[in-house]
Amino acid sequence: MPAAAFELERPESVSEALDALAAEPDARVMAGGQSLVPLLTLGLAVPPVVVSLDRCGGLADIEAGPDEVAVGAMVTTRRVELDAGLGARLRLLAEAAASVGSPHVRNFGTLAGNLCHADPGSDLIPAALCLEAELEVRSAHGRRRVGVGEMIDGPFSTALRPGEMAVAVRFPVPDPSWRCGYRKLVRRAGDLAMACAAVMVRVEDGAMAEARVALGGPLRRAVRVRGLEADLEGVAAADAAGTVLGGTWMDDLAGDLLPDATLPVDYLTAMLPRFTAAAVAETLGAGP
Ligand SMILES: Cc1cc2nc3c(=O)[nH]c(=O)nc-3n(C[C@H](O)[C@H](O)[C@H](O)COP(=O)(O)OP(=O)(O)OC[C@H]3O[C@@H](n4cnc5c(N)ncnc54)[C@H](O)[C@@H]3O)c2cc1C
Repeated sequence: MPAAAFELERPESVSEALDALAAEPDARVMAGGQSLVPLLTLGLAVPPVVVSLDRCGGLADIEAGPDEVAVGAMVTTRRVELDAGLGARLRLLAEAAASVGSPHVRNFGTLAGNLCHADPGSDLIPAALCLEAELEVRSAHGRRRVGVGEMIDGPFSTALRPGEMAVAVRFPVPDPSWRCGYRKLVRRAGDLAMACAAVMVRVEDGAMAEARVALGGPLRRAVRVRGLEADLEGVAAADAAGTVLGGTWMDDLAGDLLPDATLPVDYLTAMLPRFTAAAVAETLGAGP
């Protein structure tokens, strides 16, 4: 099916891109086009204007400082996977990036585009939630930072306002004592996640001093599972899996489950605790 006609803008600077977005409130930003192009082709997105960032200068850098890593909006998933400076500071993000689709998708798709697409099965959103990332968002009228959890308000839906675009994703660098792990459940290699879990834990004297767990997949949006995080704090590492399986944290997710014909509610409520327990246990076994 041919896409509906749209005007393609290819600005060469961020300020030109912001002017183009300000001129047409229904314009869509295009980064790698891995998700937007299929949406256009299927008629599921019909913007009058597409503002492609492919020629836009200043958006393709990774700045890996001691306290913060800033990933420009045109940095591809492949670079996130392979960049040594980023990997040394944000191993969880690099690991999640390596799980994304195929090499083709990783070579073209961007981290920022992945987050802004807000697919519940994204690999990168749970990692960004655990790492407490923020999007640096700009419009012709100013700039703001918004937490990834705050930005995503439902499946394929964000709180970005007309005229706004993300220019970077910013990550505080976690202390190296955090252990981290990423686990993904798929039917076929290269698929989006049926379920995915990003986990960070800090162990002191054999017990979990702090835990962060974010789940995605069969949920309206990926979330930090705060009830489970609280349950895990103070628990001996050896008892972690039992704590996950014995908790009531799944009750908090009940309203957000996205069952379908192949993944009914009964299956999801049985599978997610086991999957999460395995993710936490693997992370604890991974060492500092
Ligand atoms: C076959 C296939 C398999 C895939 N498998 C996986 C997988 O296993 N795991 C996974 O996580 N992802 C997967 N993806 C998604 C992919 O990883 C990309 O992240 C995703 O397509 C979006 O990145 P993009 O740069 O291509 O964004 P685009 O397609 O260009 O844009 C996606 C959306 O984000 C918006 N957007 C993009 N950049 C910005 C910006 N800077 N500011 C504001 N809005 C913006 C666009 O307007 C659009 O709504 C898959 C995609 C395909 C096609």
